[in-house]
Amino acid sequence: MSSSPNVIVIGAGVLGLSSAAELAARGHAVTVLDPGGPNASSAAAGMIAPAMESLIDGLSPDHAALLKRGRDLWPAFAGQHGLTLHLDGAEWRGPDPDAAVVILRRLGFAAERAGEGLFTPDDWRIEAQGALAQLSVLPGVARVEATVARLFHADGLWTVVSADGRQWTAPAVVLATGAATALPGLPEAVAALVDAIEPIRGQLTPIVCAAPQRVLRGPGGYATPTADGALCGATMQSGERSTDPDMEIAARQVANGVALIGGEGQAGQPRVGIRGASPDGLPMAGPSGAPGLHLALAPRRNGWLLGPMVGAIVADGIEGRAPLADASALSPLRVFTQPAARSAG
Ligand SMILES: Cc1cc2nc3c(=O)[nH]c(=O)nc-3n(C[C@H](O)[C@H](O)[C@H](O)COP(=O)(O)OP(=O)(O)OC[C@H]3O[C@@H](n4cnc5c(N)ncnc54)[C@H](O)[C@@H]3O)c2cc1C
Repeated sequence: MSSSPNVIVIGAGVLGLSSAAELAARGHAVTVLDPGGPNASSAAAGMIAPAMESLIDGLSPDHAALLKRGRDLWPAFAGQHGLTLHLDGAEWRGPDPDAAVVILRRLGFAAERAGEGLFTPDDWRIEAQGALAQLSVLPGVARVEATVARLFHADGLWTVVSADGRQWTAPAVVLATGAATALPGLPEAVAALVDAIEPIRGQLTPIVCAAPQRVLRGPGGYATPTADGALCGATMQSGERSTDPDMEIAARQVANGVALIGGEGQAGQPRVGIRGASPDGLPMAGPSGAPGLHLALAPRRNGWLLGPMVGAIVADGIEGRAPLADASALSPLRVFTQPAARSAG
């Protein structure tokens, strides 16, 4: 393997790191540039939840099936990269659980009535911050603390320049900058795609309590298990970019989480991240149309769920391999016509 990168990934959220992990596993020398610190991926609850996301967002059968195929890539991805996947399913506690069971089964998910609600074994989860840390130290991936200021393409190579003047050069670049605005030097058409990404603020609040056995979801939000309690979330605040915690929201999230779990809980520091969403709610993954420039962007509220799928599509694009069947649905060059159903929770 060469000591200079053959792929530069800009951004170390779940999409950048999943792409880097897949590329490194295929033998590429990858350099990941990121200033460090919290991002949407580290704020996240880590649910890998095709069933509940399809139910809550009222997704079409095609969209639901794509999310399920994204989930199905997780066991091999987790096994290959030393990540722990929790296969404990999820419960929905909302009005009319019988109807919800019917909807989930029609979409191809397993679901059965349980207690006041329903249980599905089809939703899994991962501990997001631990998984990011693990994905940052994989063999073949060099992680460098850097804020990219601009990039340019000349003689078949991309040069990426950091704010403090360092430079990296490689034939391929993966742009995985989350909800950030377009970097100077991007081709105009790619900059337009990046600038069309909608920022969606998300806040969740941890509580210290007796941890639930599995993810609990309801109309007011969710409670996902952690080592010492639960994460209660999450807001979907379109157009908002403030990462300051909102303590009124936190109080509501704690009340909802405690109601779902039962018992008592003590609030921790809220976690806030800015998700990026494409106009149809699916990620933009793969070749951008500009030579050597690939995108791993805008997964809305399913970045963890779709991380391995995005990584595989990006790696296929860089290698010029026949892409996964789902690559066309995620292509940055697709026509954005069908807005995804929107939910508030
Ligand atoms: C509260 C909350 C809960 C969520 N829960 C879930 C969940 O349970 N399941 C799920 O699937 N998804 C969940 N999501 C959504 C998921 O977190 C996002 O879809 C995903 O994290 C987006 O990943 P990303 O890699 O695109 O962006 P990010 O994680 O934001 O990463 C982008 C990275 O790019 C870097 N960057 C930007 N500009 C530059 C630059 N100029 N130079 C270098 N680096 C740069 C940033 O520093 C950042 O690290 C949740 C999100 C939030 C906020």
